[in-house]
Amino acid sequence: MSKILVIGSMNMDIVTRVNRHPLPGETIHGLETSFFSGGKGANQAVAAARSGATVTMAGALGEDFFGKEIREILLKDSIDLKYVKNKNQTTGMALITIDVLGENNIILNKGTNGLLTEEDLAEIDWLQYDAILMQNEIPWETNAYILEKMNEFKIKTIFNPAPALPINNQYLQMIDLLILNELEVAEITEMAVEAEEDALRAAQILIKRGVSEVIITLGKKGAIYMNKTGTYYKSSAFDVQAVDTTAAGDTFIGAFVTSYLSNDDVVTSLRYAAAAAAIAVTLEGAQNSIPYSNQVNTFIE
Ligand code: ADP
Repeated sequence: MSKILVIGSMNMDIVTRVNRHPLPGETIHGLETSFFSGGKGANQAVAAARSGATVTMAGALGEDFFGKEIREILLKDSIDLKYVKNKNQTTGMALITIDVLGENNIILNKGTNGLLTEEDLAEIDWLQYDAILMQNEIPWETNAYILEKMNEFKIKTIFNPAPALPINNQYLQMIDLLILNELEVAEITEMAVEAEEDALRAAQILIKRGVSEVIITLGKKGAIYMNKTGTYYKSSAFDVQAVDTTAAGDTFIGAFVTSYLSNDDVVTSLRYAAAAAAIAVTLEGAQNSIPYSNQVNTFIE
């Protein structure tokens, strides 16, 4: 079983359904409130664990109710939380209201995710891991430190630059596998990416700038893969009735990385990841919609 260290965000999403959004200064009644454990780091950790990886999480939570709740939720997927620090701040959270038309308002408070520093990673036994998986919901300085360290240790580094930030070639060269969606690749390469041909050109640019392997996900249009030797694959999405695409990308990433680390087969892993993400989009929610490997394998058969 592959050992993956995910270093990233953990959030509590607090979702309230309303008839209409309140005006400034107004109080209205909510219809129903739900709590969902989220954050790209935690979502990808859950996706990898359910695909069969041995997952350790590093990050920061508050010493509050949500911090405790998130710990309990991640432990249910046997994710090792030994590198999750407690901070004297509120746990990262998203306050979401959704009206009857499906329009949402979101206040994202990064809370403790924004406090994760390189000192918080001092106890990590890096050489234990087959790969490090990271996203952009913790401070960039911390990610830059991790990239430099992994480059020195020659540990496989997989980066999902979401939300997108500009990134220079010095750091792109330290990334073994970059996985990003249409919006993120557009931001990083400064070119519009809509069709497969655009994605192909964007992937070439990223390879030229130093990334070893790149996957661009294109929603229901599937995904493309390219590496520095010029190998190129296109993978189709499965045709399903999408209900909620939240965490489609996170599911795809966790599933792909786990499969690829175990079989070193890009084509099989792209298909496995597309199936995992297809199942996730047919269900509401984030972590609760992420499938287990046996469900994914049954879906593919
Ligand atoms: P993100 O969630 O980061 O925006 P994408 O929307 O590109 O990521 O989706 C990631 C993957 O999830 C896609 O490559 C595809 O395999 C799958 N997927 C996304 N939307 C759908 C859909 N409507 N139907 C089937 N598969 C989907």
